[in-house]
Order: sequence, then structure tokens, then C-alpha cells
Amino acid sequence: TSQVTTVRDAAPILPEVKNIIAVASGKGGVGKSTTSVNLAVALAQLGAKVGLVDADISGPSVPTMFNVEGEQPTVKKKGDKNIIVPITQYGVKLMSIGFLTPTDSAVVWRGPMASSALRQFIADVEWGELDYLLIDLPPGTSDIHLTMVQTVPVTGAVIVTTPQKVALADANKGLSMFRQPQINVPVLGVVENMAYFTPEELPENKYYIFGKEGGKKLAEKYAVPFLGEIPIVQSIRESGDTGYPAVLKTGLTKDAYMELAESVAR
Ligand code: ADP
Repeated sequence: TSQVTTVRDAAPILPEVKNIIAVASGKGGVGKSTTSVNLAVALAQLGAKVGLVDADISGPSVPTMFNVEGEQPTVKKKGDKNIIVPITQYGVKLMSIGFLTPTDSAVVWRGPMASSALRQFIADVEWGELDYLLIDLPPGTSDIHLTMVQTVPVTGAVIVTTPQKVALADANKGLSMFRQPQINVPVLGVVENMAYFTPEELPENKYYIFGKEGGKKLAEKYAVPFLGEIPIVQSIRESGDTGYPAVLKTGLTKDAYMELAESVAR
């Protein structure tokens, strides 16, 4: 709409942030948040300064996945401006719409309200110097996406999909959204989540329960990098629920997320 200024044409917001990376998926439930969380922690483990914005207004899961549910960011004055101090956990600075709304209550956000709240979450937060600010976007290709990527200077987008046909069809749409002329955000690549199931104790056994290499083929189709595959592992789900990201534990999943972080950082 006419109120939306394209930040890339305006004064830069967050001059101290080197890269703003949107994490997107076509469909919900493919593991976009799980991937964002583990990627953020993995980048921090590589020594980068990292922030994460949970923009998934439909179901903010970052507070749970970081075990900071119920915590509330403080607000302080900087000149005549109020700025929000993010919550830091596992070396990552966090902002989530979930910090502002009571758990278990359904908040119905109107599109423009959600967009302006999210913009505030990015622009009015004391991020300081960051190498990466990840934005965990809501699934799909909504109005919020358009406003977000048009008002925040997004460096690139990471697309998360499972190898399943229905997820890929939506990932296709998500990916092409970033390529539309009015958005024009470079796609950094595709992550295939739930690429196969593997029992942790038998990692050489791979079961392609959602199909094989769908994410890889999507990346090939659009000629974007394939950033990596993450298997379905019980401990990844458990780590999300207990708020201690899987990448912080040693083993198979740590390696997969560290490799992913290395290919995103490249
Ligand atoms: P989205 O953000 O796309 O809606 P979530 O990250 O919330 O998806 O993941 C959906 C569910 O799948 C969660 O219960 C999460 O713990 C689980 N999950 C995601 N990725 C994996 C994985 N690689 N292995 C096991 N469980 C996973």
C-alpha cells in the first residue's frame, strides 16, 4: 500500500546488522521454526553475533524452543525513543511476538497491525552489532510477508521444506514470491528438513518416509544452492519441546545443523 515505504530506498535501518536473513516455508509444520532456532544457535557456535526474530504470529514457538517462555523483554529510553532490550539465550538475542502475548491465548492480529508490530520488533530493538539477524517468518505467502520484506532490508531468504510433494508445491510458491520484482530478495538456498528418518543409535539406516531429495530438486529447479538436509530425529523434536536446541548436544543432529550454518555463512 502507499503507506509502505521500501526501506531499501530509504535510510537504512539497523546499520549495525550485517545480514538480515528471512527463514520461510510454504507450508506450516515443515520445521521452519526448528530450523531457524538451531541455525541461529549454530551460527552463534561458529562465533557469529546472532539475533532471531520470531515473526510467526500464528504460533510463536521460539520462546518454548529457547526455554524462555513467560519472560518479558524490558524497554528503555534512548534519547526520546523507547527501545526494547532483547532476551539473550544460548548466545542468541531473541524477540518474539510470544513475549508480548500470554501463553495459551489466541491473539488475532489484523494484517496491518501485525506488520507494524513486527517491524517494531526489528527496528526498535537494541540488537547492537550483529552478523546475522534471522527472521522466522509465518508460513505461506501472506500480506505480512510482503510488508516485512518490503520494509526491512532483507539480505536473503532461506526456504525450508520437507521432501513431500504437497510441501514442495507450497515451497515453490514461497520461493517464487521472493523473486517477484516488487520483493526481489535473493534466495540463499533450500533446506530439506525431515529428509529421512533415522534412529539415533542406527544413523546408517535411512527411511525416506516423506520421499527422497525433493528439496534438492527444488533447489536445482530454481538454480539456488542446496543448503543441506536435516533428518527426522526424535531428539530434535524433544529438544524443541524442552527448550534446549538439538545443536547444543553432540552427535548426528549437531553435525547436520553445523554444516547448515556453514553453508548459510558461506
Ligand atoms: P514450522 O515452524 O514449520 O511450523 P516446527 O519447527 O514447529 O514447524 O516443527 C513442527 C514439528 O515438527 C515440531 O513438533 C518439531 O519439534 C518437529 N520437527 C521439526 N523438525 C524436525 C526434525 N528434523 N526431526 C524431528 N522433529 C522435527
